[in-house]
Amino acid sequence: MQNKKNRRGFLRTGASAAGAGVLALSGCKSQREEKEVNINFNKTFRWKMTTTWPPNFPVVGEGCKMMAEWVKKMSGGRMEITVYGGGELIPALEGFDAVSNGAVEMNHGAAYYWAGKLPAAPFFTAVPFGMNAQQMGAWIISGGGAKLWEELYAPYDLLPIICGNTGSQMGGWFNKEINSIEDLKGLKMRIPGLGGKVLAKAGGTPMLVSGGEIYTNLERGVIDATEWIGPYHDYKMGFHQVAKYYYYPGWHEQGPVLELILNKPKFLALPEDLQEIVRTACLRLNRWMMAEFDAKNGEYLNKLVHEEKVPLKAYPKEVMIALKNYAKETIAELTETDAPSRKVYTAFKEFQSVINPWMEISEKAFFQDI
Ligand code: CA
Repeated sequence: MQNKKNRRGFLRTGASAAGAGVLALSGCKSQREEKEVNINFNKTFRWKMTTTWPPNFPVVGEGCKMMAEWVKKMSGGRMEITVYGGGELIPALEGFDAVSNGAVEMNHGAAYYWAGKLPAAPFFTAVPFGMNAQQMGAWIISGGGAKLWEELYAPYDLLPIICGNTGSQMGGWFNKEINSIEDLKGLKMRIPGLGGKVLAKAGGTPMLVSGGEIYTNLERGVIDATEWIGPYHDYKMGFHQVAKYYYYPGWHEQGPVLELILNKPKFLALPEDLQEIVRTACLRLNRWMMAEFDAKNGEYLNKLVHEEKVPLKAYPKEVMIALKNYAKETIAELTETDAPSRKVYTAFKEFQSVINPWMEISEKAFFQDI
């Protein structure tokens, strides 16, 4: 019914206004008048997208450039987005401020990079022993997560949109075997977000190292271990040349969500069709990225194990149990001290408690050995 009404509105106004190069889509008279001013086919919007990824970074950075192409094509050339790698226009982790103050219009990255400003932000990327990529997408898109995320960023004039996911990650690269939780003591490991806090509880030292520096830091012994993404990307990073053992599963990041943050006033001032084009491109990038990682991870796991002879190891059960307990403590401390974290995690946990029983008898049951 709504579609029919919109369609009629579109045709009626289109017929009267197309000659003037403006077009209304739907709505009451006052809204229509406003949109007639707003939707101008002759105006081209040139926006800047900064990213937290090194320039020309495979999959994630590459995906941002693809997204800019999609937006350009979908908008008939009315919206052109220039994508910048981290450090090309601003330092890699300054996107939050740059978009907030309007210096650039959009930034692609991950919410947990902003944990220093917003302790609740990591809940929108990854929670140790939390939800996987499929569940995170379900929570954010259809389970109320997006609304909480938008509320959290609103005081900064930012609008977050889900815009990518690496899928399941690996546990990480180590130069020694992890046979008990004691083996994590004193270990200097590159591991960001809440996962890093969990490692610290186990006596390890979480290190913040940007993607471009991990290889050399591992090689020189500045760090003893690192987590990154999964077989495909890790292979491209060459970690198998500087670390001995490859551990699974990625208990700290089962399916981290990537985000596009937009300067909210600028985004809302865009013609409505361009806003929808940007949102649509985000969803496409979100889906493409997961498909790309899932499709390539199996192939590259095979390369790592069979061609490069990397020993693949599972964390022992007792290590997983200890890490899970430390994760509970970490989250409890955060939610006790930070009200927004408490609010977001309550919703997260509630969603998880409903979706997990379904996953048990669907995904998990399907993959059980028979
Ligand atoms: Ca990671």
